[in-house]
Amino acid sequence: MNEGCPICRELASVETSAAGIKVTCIRCGDFALSEVVAASNHQLTQRQVANLSGWLREHPGSTIVTGQLDRLLELQSPTIGEKADRLLLHISQLVPKPGAVFTVGSGSSDLPIPLLIGVSWAQDLDELSFLLADYLIDELKLLSNVTGGGVFKITPKGWAYIHSLKQGLIRSETAFVAMWFNKTVDPAHTAIEAGIENAGYKAVRIDRHHHNNKIDDEIIAGIRRSKFLVADFTGQRGGVYFEAGFALGTGRPVIWLCRNDELKNVHFDNRQYNFILWEDGKLAELSKALQNRIEATIGRGPLAASA
Ligand SMILES: [Zn+2]
Repeated sequence: MNEGCPICRELASVETSAAGIKVTCIRCGDFALSEVVAASNHQLTQRQVANLSGWLREHPGSTIVTGQLDRLLELQSPTIGEKADRLLLHISQLVPKPGAVFTVGSGSSDLPIPLLIGVSWAQDLDELSFLLADYLIDELKLLSNVTGGGVFKITPKGWAYIHSLKQGLIRSETAFVAMWFNKTVDPAHTAIEAGIENAGYKAVRIDRHHHNNKIDDEIIAGIRRSKFLVADFTGQRGGVYFEAGFALGTGRPVIWLCRNDELKNVHFDNRQYNFILWEDGKLAELSKALQNRIEATIGRGPLAASA
């Protein structure tokens, strides 16, 4: 059935099933909403729609359930540079041949406007035009306007930049550790750090005590610089939930940890994930289990001992 996408209102095919609804949207891609989320009538701001569409584009096939929606609605918008990076990377996937030209619009050979708005986390056509024309063409010269009209191509400088972007994503050697700052989990923190280092990555933890318990720019930047996030839910800190959601929202894998006796307290929507459970007194096992999980799901890092 063709009707408006429940997130962005663009033309979409919407199928109802017992579990909720499945949507194929030109802007958001393929996703599903649980019954409760589909029935809820959220009034989303334009910024929230932009973030949700962008997140869905980076997590195709996701099913959004209740608690997750609340966290996704709190996602911070990417910076203008990050939006432009996403747009350029996506265009390079759609038009992979160097030198090939492309047009943007609603014709059958055009790159569709709603798709480009979705992948760049832009709010509307005005913002997309700004990213394309003012930012990528005029300012950075990563794209060129071939005819002066609406025919574009990626410049040599653009291809070099795309290459470095991909290398940067691959090369990041840090893992961000999100966990409770409390003496009772300090020994576990040491074990977590060892597991990360044995897998070949550098562990980064930002002391929230110096940050008035706020999710501030330094934490956001720390997550953005890391390849993946290790989240320990012992103590049920709101910051840990936020940081895990933020990492997922920016396409970074999350490894889920919790002390055995606390799993029952973890928010229901998060219990679907495959947690590594640990116990005080068995912390060497935590290190080993974490190292194995990192190597199995992300791969050995650049700092790994060559054994
Ligand atoms: Zn949509």
